[in-house]
Amino acid sequence: MKGFLVSITLTWFPARKPRKECAMTNPLFTAKIWGCRGSYSNEPEEFLPRFQRLLKVLDPQQIEMVRQANQGVPLKEMFESFLNDGDQPRHHLYLDRGIHTTCIEVRCGDKIYVIDLGSGCVALGKKLIGGQLAKKSYDPGGGGRGSTLKFTVLGTHVHLDHLAYGAPFFGPFFVANELLNCEIRMFGGVDWWSGMDGALASAIEIPFFPLSIKQVMREKTVTTKTIQDGFEIIDEDEQGNKIRITAVKQNHPQETYGWRIEYMGKVFVFGGDNEPFPGFDRGCDPKLVKLCKEADVVVNDCQYSFDQYLGSTREKMSRRAWGHSFPEANAALVREAGVKGIFVTTHHDPGAETEWIEELARQVAMNVPKTVSVIAGFEGLELDMLNLSKVNHYAVSV
Ligand SMILES: [Zn+2]
Repeated sequence: MKGFLVSITLTWFPARKPRKECAMTNPLFTAKIWGCRGSYSNEPEEFLPRFQRLLKVLDPQQIEMVRQANQGVPLKEMFESFLNDGDQPRHHLYLDRGIHTTCIEVRCGDKIYVIDLGSGCVALGKKLIGGQLAKKSYDPGGGGRGSTLKFTVLGTHVHLDHLAYGAPFFGPFFVANELLNCEIRMFGGVDWWSGMDGALASAIEIPFFPLSIKQVMREKTVTTKTIQDGFEIIDEDEQGNKIRITAVKQNHPQETYGWRIEYMGKVFVFGGDNEPFPGFDRGCDPKLVKLCKEADVVVNDCQYSFDQYLGSTREKMSRRAWGHSFPEANAALVREAGVKGIFVTTHHDPGAETEWIEELARQVAMNVPKTVSVIAGFEGLELDMLNLSKVNHYAVSV
């Protein structure tokens, strides 16, 4: 029955053509969100409101066709079949804003960067492995020879939701070398510790995990580097175009970095977890402003409302010093840093439903120049830095 349902839903929602690998004449600078929940993975919405939202965005004739084709099958089952079909997130129809914690895939030409290993990285890991195995150069009988999956992990910090929830299940750490070689660079700041490898050992270690980090990565080529404020990586794509990546320390409990990626004259920033600088409740941390200066696209923490942050809601619980931000501070950031094109809210509170997440984004949008589009981030959102108009339609309306 499931196969039948899947074939129907594929007709209903034609699968996108797979993106072509970087063409020599067509540079690529994209970012895709694989996880945007903060603190822990959660799916707060019940089935019914999600289903009602789905019905709103679909053509009634298509719905009727599917009803008739699936006579006898409850709509709820059809809907869940659609949601659960494959590893790709299916939240691009505004169904909800996603369930997984932080992970963002950035592509600069042929170079792949993975920001954080929250639970969203599990699906990304499968995609990276599948994409590499599908390449023509791959030799299935050659022990992975001729095909090496290369990418770089840019860690913001080592809190559970950014590392331990995803890293132990991230396929490239585990894929057998007979199947695929992997070369992984990891950058992160944990100067009180022994480096990113030490941080990973806390996520992948007996008795918290069946294997130790040494067993898991025995034959992998993994290099780790502990970074400091202002740390810079200079890479080149296959055409020799420069990729400049900078880490800037942020205001968050324990050492945390935001990442700025500059490529092909455009700038993408992931702010990481952060809250306004102490004493600047409606202002900005100067370091965050520096990180985001004149960026084309910024993705930043907007977990709470200002009232929640202050503790002036009915529950009287202040979120100060928890390390997360709110709309007024983000709007000030956009203005002070002169963000140019798109601002995306992320690190959504695990208990926040879609309407609330959109409301927080709307509060940002109301206080920034109209030239900036504000999007409430969601799993599956793809940002094309070289063609920003493609993602404008996801912006919240004010
Ligand atoms: Zn977090």
